Amino acid sequence: MSFELNSLPYAYDALDPYIDTLTMQIHHDKHHAAYVNNLNLAMEKHPEMSSKSLEALLSDLNAVPEDIRTAVRNHGGGAWNHDLFWQVMAPKAGGEPQAGLASAIASAFGNFANFKAEFEKAAMGRFGSGWAWLVKKGNGLAVFSTANQDNPISDGMAPLLALDVWEHAYYLKYQNRRAEYVGNWWNVVNWAEVARRYSSK
Ligand code: MN
Repeated sequence: MSFELNSLPYAYDALDPYIDTLTMQIHHDKHHAAYVNNLNLAMEKHPEMSSKSLEALLSDLNAVPEDIRTAVRNHGGGAWNHDLFWQVMAPKAGGEPQAGLASAIASAFGNFANFKAEFEKAAMGRFGSGWAWLVKKGNGLAVFSTANQDNPISDGMAPLLALDVWEHAYYLKYQNRRAEYVGNWWNVVNWAEVARRYSSK
């Protein structure tokens, strides 16, 4: 069994003008595809691990054989993170979360504007390549960033929302203007999916 590259849940141009078509094509078909391919190449060395889901592998990296652990962390993380990223975006989305997730955000951060400011700070403060996250941690919520393709699952947390701040995610349209990319990205956040993940974790 090998891991597969899932299709985007919408057209390549669906998030335009906030995320442009060429970026989506290269990001999904080249970058995301390469993570999946390299993960599979690593896993071929250890067929005894083939029954494990990607989430199971990432949640217990110490159980992954040492010779492929870094590859699973980097490429497996890349494969999983991008799958989440596509799902937590959608056309005609944005706005604010409703109901239970809205209350949880208010109790963790004071209000939605404070949450956005903290999330943007995490996204802007990540030097080099990485991700900004909203996660469920215990009974509460937390915001932080990780380097490279590291994933909160490996630290026992449940990711709800993720923002890719690697330059490949925005450079074609925004060049060095990460803040503009982050600001525009709120227009495509799929809060219905974030809320679904919040309720199911
Ligand atoms: Mn990416």
